[in-house]
Formats: sequence, structure tokens, C-alpha cells
Amino acid sequence: MAAASRDPGSSLNPFFRAVSRFRQRRWDECIDLCTELLEQNPRDQAAWFLKCRALTSKQWIDDVEIDEEGVADLLLDENAVAQAPRPGTSLNRPLTRDTGGGPTQVVRPVSASGRPLTGFARPGTNRPGSSSAGRDITTAMQGNRPGTSRPLTSMGRLIRLGTASMQQDGGEFVRLESLDLQKYAQRPAIAKALCDYMRAPAAAASAKAAPSADHAGTRSMFLLGAGAAASAACRRAGRAARAAGSASRALKGGTARLAQARQSSTALRAQEATGKERVAMQATATVEAPARTYEVGDKVHGWTCVREEYVKEFSCTGYLFQHDKTGAELLSMVQPADENKTFSVVFRTPPENSNGIAHVLEHSVLCGSRKYPLKEPFVELMKSSLQTFLNAMTFPDRTCYPVASCNLKDFYNLIDVYLDAVFHPRAVDDPMVLAQEGWHYEVEKPEEPLKYKGVVFNEMKGVYSNPDAAHGRLANQSMFPDNQYGVDSGGDPKVIPSLDFEYFKDFHSKYYHPSNAKFWFYGDDSPDVRLELVDKYLSDFEKIEVSSTIDKQPLFKEPRKVVDEFAVGEDEDISKKTMLSVNWVISEGKDDLKTALALQFLNYLMMGTAASPLYKALVDSGMGSRVIGGGLDDGMLQATFSVGLKDLKEEDVPKVEELVMKTLEELAEKGFESDAIKAAVNTIEFQNRELNTGSFPKGLALLFAANSNWNYDKDPFEALKFEKPLEDLKARLEKGEPVFQELIKTKLLENPHKVIVETRPSKELSKKIEEEEKQELEKHRETLSQEDVEKLIQETIKLKEIQEAPDSPEAMKSVPGLELSDIPKETPKVPTEKAESEVDVTVLRHALPTSGVVYADLAFDLSSVPEELLPLVPLFTRALKQLGTAKGDFVSLTRRVGMSTGGIAASTLCMNKKGEVEPITYLFLRGKSMAGQLPELSDLMQEIALTTDFDNKERIVQLASQARSGAQSSLISSGHAVASTELAAQSTKAGWLSGKWSGLEQYKYLTELLQNIEEGGWETVLAQLQALQACIFNQASCSVLNITSDAEHLDVAQKELERLAGELPADKQSQVLLKPSLGRRADAIVVPTQVNYVGKGSNLYESGYEYHGSSLVVSKLLGATYLWDRVRVSGGAYGGFCRFDPRSGDFKYLSYRDPNLGKTLDNYDGAPAFLKDLELSEDELTKAIIGCMGDVDSYLLPDAKGYQAMLRHLLGEDDVYRQKVRDEILGTQVKDFHRFGEALEAVKEGGICVVGSQEACNEAKEKYGLTLISPFAEAK
Ligand SMILES: [Zn+2]
Repeated sequence: MAAASRDPGSSLNPFFRAVSRFRQRRWDECIDLCTELLEQNPRDQAAWFLKCRALTSKQWIDDVEIDEEGVADLLLDENAVAQAPRPGTSLNRPLTRDTGGGPTQVVRPVSASGRPLTGFARPGTNRPGSSSAGRDITTAMQGNRPGTSRPLTSMGRLIRLGTASMQQDGGEFVRLESLDLQKYAQRPAIAKALCDYMRAPAAAASAKAAPSADHAGTRSMFLLGAGAAASAACRRAGRAARAAGSASRALKGGTARLAQARQSSTALRAQEATGKERVAMQATATVEAPARTYEVGDKVHGWTCVREEYVKEFSCTGYLFQHDKTGAELLSMVQPADENKTFSVVFRTPPENSNGIAHVLEHSVLCGSRKYPLKEPFVELMKSSLQTFLNAMTFPDRTCYPVASCNLKDFYNLIDVYLDAVFHPRAVDDPMVLAQEGWHYEVEKPEEPLKYKGVVFNEMKGVYSNPDAAHGRLANQSMFPDNQYGVDSGGDPKVIPSLDFEYFKDFHSKYYHPSNAKFWFYGDDSPDVRLELVDKYLSDFEKIEVSSTIDKQPLFKEPRKVVDEFAVGEDEDISKKTMLSVNWVISEGKDDLKTALALQFLNYLMMGTAASPLYKALVDSGMGSRVIGGGLDDGMLQATFSVGLKDLKEEDVPKVEELVMKTLEELAEKGFESDAIKAAVNTIEFQNRELNTGSFPKGLALLFAANSNWNYDKDPFEALKFEKPLEDLKARLEKGEPVFQELIKTKLLENPHKVIVETRPSKELSKKIEEEEKQELEKHRETLSQEDVEKLIQETIKLKEIQEAPDSPEAMKSVPGLELSDIPKETPKVPTEKAESEVDVTVLRHALPTSGVVYADLAFDLSSVPEELLPLVPLFTRALKQLGTAKGDFVSLTRRVGMSTGGIAASTLCMNKKGEVEPITYLFLRGKSMAGQLPELSDLMQEIALTTDFDNKERIVQLASQARSGAQSSLISSGHAVASTELAAQSTKAGWLSGKWSGLEQYKYLTELLQNIEEGGWETVLAQLQALQACIFNQASCSVLNITSDAEHLDVAQKELERLAGELPADKQSQVLLKPSLGRRADAIVVPTQVNYVGKGSNLYESGYEYHGSSLVVSKLLGATYLWDRVRVSGGAYGGFCRFDPRSGDFKYLSYRDPNLGKTLDNYDGAPAFLKDLELSEDELTKAIIGCMGDVDSYLLPDAKGYQAMLRHLLGEDDVYRQKVRDEILGTQVKDFHRFGEALEAVKEGGICVVGSQEACNEAKEKYGLTLISPFAEAK
């Protein structure tokens, strides 16, 4: 078949020619060929099948099977969205998972330039990611694959349905009576298509109005393969139907789908006998499809449809509505093929100053509302919802409240809680909310000094301690001195205490008003219900004028330069710490999509991979440890471009700008090599085809895209329709137009709106800030009378009381929940076939719809790696693909990978296997490509494994410094992950090894390694790297080939991979047993920070606890109740949570950005008593179980499913075991909470690991017996 597609010559069998056209995506030709074939032989099933597929593809109808993955969406950069800063913010409790060093979802998401991320990236905006070695198990199980994938089209069951019911001898294309309507009517996606088919007349009529509307009607016909005759009849009928249109609109809901479907199928059959037009009308009138369509001008539930647009790129139709009474806007994307439904409300909230109002309000509205009078309904939802996304986020100019769920009931519950929260929050009546979430004075005794406390206050203190964030913030403020982007919407801890209640209330009533709101819906839910739901909330309001537009920053006439300081620890080495970036504002206003797309391409070409010229020039200069700035940022009104280096020596600082400008000049003059452009085009097209949003709901990715226009009163649809501008761009490139050279000249080289930002390390700054805060507080204290102080004390006590008091049972009942019966009893299975193989290796095959993409994973067992080489594994893994091979240097390798595959990545894994002492450790080589590219993919994987040339001292030093710098940042910004790793390292061999691979130990190892190389030890390091290569890439280590793809490609893929495995050198390996020294310790890692990360843990199996699925329910509830209340709400930390690893038995308490240290440790010790005395109502217990199931059944794309199945195989966790755990979770009882509380007593004597400030560590040292470790101290 592959040969046929390469040679579409006319000598071919016509069917093969049709297949070939199909593969070339020349749908019309394919359809014509099939039609010819069918004229000759109407019973040719293959031709019917292919024709159906072509018609379907042509109309961008995707897989409608709701159990499987839905339609594809977007070119998303998973690194930027799903994996790393999945816009998790304020609300998402730090972790339900730790990511061992990598960026985590708890951090307020910012781009490398410090601007909060929009969470969405179009093609080519991804940067070279830093894969964090020794990733935590949860992440591993999520199967996040850097830059990975998901299908565009696959053979959904709907197509099979159409095929199966095709009439053989003329007549209707689809025989409705042969379908099991009852069955299909229950599946919204299919029922919708069926209804569409049956009511096609109405849709076909509207199709005439505008070409864009065409799809609504025609697609259903094409979908089910309605022939020309049918469509003509429909059109005729349609004219009449249109007249009856408004009658049909009167029909509500989609509840009685089945009855309606039956009725209309009867009607349709009756069509033969009676007048077609009249019956068609009847059909239209009786059917209320679950996903219905509208016409411009339609008035539905208080809304008027103002736009209708088919978005081919995402195979869905969007309707823009305006609310008649309030002027609110609502974008309703009808996507019957995606069960992961999304909703969001977005308000424009441009801040005037840095008092953090937008951010504080974002937190506060979720602290109870009119209908849900709880302290935190959000937390209740987290406990008991099946949400696939639940969060809120503050951007520099807007605030966004998105939710997602695959369960319809759950989805509506979430929406209701959010709508009530934003429009009727308790926070505007109760100043205590502002005090808790924003800031307040805390004082408990008259003689004590005042303190500032508050969730956002502490969160932002953490953000402000991060040097990278400080640099990005300064860059932003300097680029936008005259508009709203120049202030910090998150809040500056220095300014936050100026925020008062009046201002807070005013801001809410001004901006959180329907007249300033934009609503978003996407998915397979009923579009009518959407309008109804929101209207219910809006009808309480009258229209007002809201001025919330974002001002444009006028462009500078002259470049500028700013210099500032950031805080470092007192004994840190600051000889190589300065940061410098060059920043441009490159647009006067919002760019059109054509320009935006060209800029994204340009950004990818300059910065997209480690081999891209601008990125590479900076790295190769050897001046800094890491590229900062992140390139293009186009999520806001005006796009910016920033690039620079961190960790510079003072004398190198001026050279960075010179280097950037020189590189840009060269690129402007010479342009890019055609290979580089080809690789970029292939990569972007692959992403296009694969459309993988990872674990991030696709609908939200679309929202962020649409909103990047909509928020500025531009066309929200334009941002989604990239195909045409992409084709135009390609055509211009093909013609040889110097598109990119022009852009470099006009947008960068000749652009005077340029700001050079330099930040220098300061050992005094942190002290100075603290001193200022203290003085500020003292000054305020002096203005207070005795009574005032007494009043503050009373308020402090009152706040604590409120915080610690439980919600009333009535309030708890107000939060809507699901029933246990809404949860499937059976554990979901991934299709896995263990195939026979000629090579001595386990072959796992997963037939899943991937639309022609093949995902191939090779697992290499690391158990024979000698202990002394183990710490080098992360650097080794990182270096693969970053060095030259036998066939060329790494620029050439990167381009070849880009030109003929969808990407290749290497990663490592170290986990406990239940019941075993030795860890399982693997290096995965993971690749993806279209099926036709498999030979190239496997050749490249082999080339990388066997011929990577490690003899490149300069490059290894670069990579090691980057990794070291990453490890260092994670110590400061992800201290909870570091603490978690260190605690695990005290307990098990796997924990110990993971500790070597990340966090403190890895940081120390890399520091020594770099020093070693500097002192002439390169030869030794090289020998070690080569030893690793020989030890890992051989037949004995290669233990699993894992293939995920459409069934039809599995055989070919297996053959290719077996060839690869068979050609690995044969080698005998023996397992090396690790001999670490384990044991509980109490460590405090001192870092320059203003907040702490407090961890405490122990191994529950050692003290006799036996694993039971209920432990997952209990630990989730503990995190959401006791720890949340004590550590976050009353302690003022950003988060407090716990983790239990069923495989090892390790249990840990952790806190995140915590102002306390000792107090948090004491709080942890109260947890066993809390659990042992816990009483739960039936309702609360159900909520806890359901919340836990939401984590267990997380939403995964096919490639992630295949990867997860492989990990389960390696871990020996079969379906029987998983079913047992599931049963235990579902059967959790209150006594399980008591039993787990009993087990947690052991943690009181457990190990401690704290990452914190010098002051806090010193203070707690004695009481908790802490050993202080100062990793950044200068060697003395
Ligand atoms: Zn926040």
C-alpha cells in the first residue's frame, strides 16, 4: 500500500489509486474514483468504505466514538501547556503530584520572560524543553511525552455504523430501520449525527445562506453517506422546513432523545409515501438533537445569535451569542466528538496598580457564595468531582474561570458553582475573606510585633524570591511603562497591604459584571442548555457600561536600558550570577493571524530547538548557563520578543547584546537554510496532524486561543482558523520570498522599542526587603492605640476560629455531587497484546485510534549499570539527541529528526515495584512518526542509540551547566518536590536513586562533575559516558518494545522495531544490586528564599500497615480537609498536602511556600488524631470516594494510554490487581480512615526534610534536631 501511495500512476488498479489519493488527502479525486468503482460494482464494500472515509475526512468529521478520543484540535506545545505550566495557579492545591524538579502545575504559570502564560501555543512557539530526569511516578504514569501526540482522524464507530447499514440495491444510503436506535440514542455524539441526518433538510437549507454554514447540514449527509438524490430531496424539503424553523426552536432539551429519534425515523420512512416536504417538516419539528444548530438572528433563552462559523481546523461549529439584557457574550462551540466538555467565564480585569486586586479577587470569589454558603466550595468540588480541569487564573489583563469534565452531570454542577461564585460571592459582604486570601495584620499577644499574613501575600512573596521571575517582571515593566502591563496583576508583596475592602468591592462590582463577561462552551453537551444555564444567572443584572479595554503601549523612539538587583543568599558565590536579556515590543496592537503565524514560524526557526541558530549561538558562547527570555510571547495585546542569558560574569554582560544583534543581522542577511525551513514545516505539520494537547482539555486550549483575540474585541474565530494563513505562508516560502528576513529586520533590528534588562545578584537585598517590611509594620504599630491592638488581636483570633470551624452540614449539602452509581465499576483497560517476537524482547502492542501516527517506545533496563555511573544517567539521557552522531553534527541530526519524524525523546524512570526491594529503572527511547516514515524513525533511533558521539567536551559542559542551573532553580522554586525526593531517599532504594537523579544530590553531583572537567578530568567523564552507552544500548538491556497505533500499522511498526532491536550489539549483563545507606534523618536545606517547604515522612509498610485501596481516598481527604485548613488556610501557606505511594509504602506530608516551619511540623503530628476521630456522613464519604476516582480515571490520549500500559507491565500491575484496588476504593468505609490514622502514628517519628530560609531553619534547628545544609554556600 505504501508503494501505491508513492506511485499514483494510472497503470494502478483504480482502487489503489483511490487509496493513494486518499493518503494524499486529495479527497475529491478519491471520492470520484470510488464513485466510478461503485457504478461498476455497487456491492464493493471496500470502495464504499473508502468513499465514506474520504467524504468524512473532507468534511472534517472526526471520530465520533465517545468512548475513544474525540476530534483533534490544536497544535499545542505540550511542554508549555500540559506538562509544565498547565495553568495551575492559586487554586490548584500544590500537588496532587510532585514532579521531581520539573516545573509543576502549582506555580502561577509564567513564560520564561515572566509574563503569565496564556496556556496555549500555536505551532512553533515551543522552546527546547528541559526534560527532568528521575521524574516522579505520577508524572510517569500520566505518560506525558514531550512534544507528543494525538490523532486527527480515526475510524470511529460511526463510520462503521454508516457502512454497516448501507443499502445494497439503491434506495436510501442509510437504512434507519436496520439501526439499533435505542442504543445509539443513548450516545449523545452518535444520536446527534443520526438526528442531523434525519433532520438534514433544515440544515441543508441554512447551508445555502453562507458557505461556512454549509457543514452543519452537509456533514451529516456526508457522514452517513447520503447520496446526491437524498441531498436534493433534503434541499427541497428544507425550504419548507425553514419556514417551520421557529416552531422547532420552541422545543427544549434533549432528554427524550430516544422517543424522538424513533418518531422521526418513522417520519422519515413515511416520507416515501406522503409528500416529502411536509414530512420533513414534521421530522424537523419533532427532533431536538442534543447538539443543535442556530442561524444568525435566532433568539434563544435571552440570547441572540450574532455569528455562526464552521471551524474546519477543529471540525466544529461555533456560534457567537450576545445576551439581550446585559450585553454579555457567549461563544458556543458545538463539538459532538469531544466528551471532555469545557466551560469558562472570562472577565477583563486590567489592574491600575500592583496591589494584586485581580489575583486576590480570583482567590476570594471561590470562598463561598449565595447558593453555596461554604467556606470553600471549590475545595468541596475538588474532593468530589470527576473534573478533568478545575482552576482559575489571573492574567495581566483578564481573569479566567475554566472547568472541564467528561461527565455531564458533573459538568453542570461545576458550572453552577462557578457562576454563583463569580456573580454572588460572599467575599464582597464579608471582609474576612479579603483578610484571609489577600492580607491582614496578625498579632496574637499585645507585646508581639505585627505580621502580614494572607494566601496571596505569601504566594507572591514566593514568586518574588525567584530571580528568574524578578528578571521577567522587570523586563515587562520596562517594556510597558505606560499601560496596564507595567504593573503586576499578581500583586507586589510591598503593595498588597494597600488593598482595602472598598477598593476590593468596587473592583468586583465593576468588572465581574455580565456586561464585562465572556462565556465559553465546548464539547458534546446540549447547546440550548448552555444558553439557559447562563441566562438564569444573567437575568438578575442590568446592562452597564464597563470600560475595561487595555491601552496600547506607544512604541519607543529610542532603545532603553534598565538595571536592577535580585536577592541571593549571603554565602552564595556571585561571581557568575548576572542576567541579561534583550526585549522588544514587536507590535503596535494585536497582529492579524497571518503576521502572528509568520512570527511563530520565525520564533521556531530561531529558538525552537537546541540547534536553532539564535538559541545555539547563545548556548555556544559559553557565557551563561541558560538561555532566558523564551522568545516570542504573543498571548497579550502586543507581542514581545525576549532573549538573553543567565549566570553571566560581569565582563560578559555587554557581550550578550552584541551577540544577539550580530546573530540577528546574519540571519536577516543570509536567511535560513532550506533544510531548517523544511524541518520546521514538517514539524509543524506533524503537530497539526497529531494535535496533541496532552492532559490539558482541548476545549480550553481552544478557549485560550480564541481569547487571545476576543479579549481585545477582535474576532475570536480568526485565532482558530490557522489553516489558510499557514498555506499562504508556505506558498510564499516556496516562492522564495524572504519572509523571515523581512520580519527580523522590521520587528527586531530596526525596532526602537527595545529594552536591555540587566539584573545583578545582591546579598543585601533580601535583608533589605525584610527590614523594610518590618519598619512598615512598626510604623503602623506606632499609630495604633491600646484598643486598636486589642481589636487586631480579636480579629486574628476570630479569623482563626472561622478558619478552623467546620462548615455546617446544611452548607455542605448545598454542594452538588455525583452518586457512586455514576462511577463505572470496572477498571478501564487499555487494549494490550503481547506479541510473539523473533528477537528476545517483550513486544506490547496497543491498537488505538491514532490517525496514522505510530508511537514507538523502547525500554532499556538500567539494572546492570554500575552504581558509580548511576548519577551520570540523567546527563547521559539529556545528551542523547543533543550531540552529533556518526552521520553528522547535532544540527544536522536535529534537522533530520525534524524533517522525517514527529520527534524522538529519551527519558528515564526509577520506581518501586510493589513487594520488591530492588527498584525498576529504565531508560526509554521514544519516537513517533507517520506510518510511512517508520523506516526513517527507526534508523534515527538506532543512530542516536549506537552512534552518539560523546567526545565533545564543550557541549557536555554546556549541557551539564544547564542541568545544574535547572537543579538549582528547582531547589528554590520547587522545594516541596526536593523535600519529597529527599524523604523518599531516606526510605527505599528507588527513592535513594531518584534522589541521586534530581534535587540536591544531582545538583551536588553536577557541581563536582563540572569542577572535575575544569581540572582536567574530561577523559574520565568521557570514558564514563561511553561506558554507559555500551552498558545501556544492547540486546540484553533492551527489554520492551511498546507500540501504540491504529491496528493497521502495528505489524509494520513491530517489524521495524524488531529490526532495530536485532541490530543492537549482543552483550551479557548482570544485575547490579544497589547498596545505599538508608535511614531517617532530619535535614534542613538552606536556600535564599522568603518562604519554606516543609516535609515529613515515613514508611507505613515498615510499621505494619498493609496496602488497601482506601488509603488513596483517605490521603486525598486528609489533604483536602485537615492539611488544607491547618497549613494553608490558617497557616498561610500556599499549600499543604500529603502523598502516599502504594508501591513503596512511603507516606509524606508536604507544604508549599509556607511562612511557617515548626508550626507546620506540629500540625502534621495532629493528623493521626484527626483521622482516628473522624466521623463522616454517608454523603461526605461518597464525595471522598468519587473525588479519588477522578484521579484514578484520569483522561488520557491514546499515546499516553499505550505508555501507561507499558509502565503497568513493567510494574507487574495487571488488570486483576487494578480491579481489586478499584473495588477497595469504591468500598471504602469510615473505619478505613481510622485504620489509616492509626498507621500514620508512625510518621510522628519519621524523617524530616525542609527547604527553607536561613532564619526559619535556624529558629527550628534545636527543637526538631535539624541538620542544616547550605548547598549554595561558597566553598571556604
Ligand atoms: Zn494565586
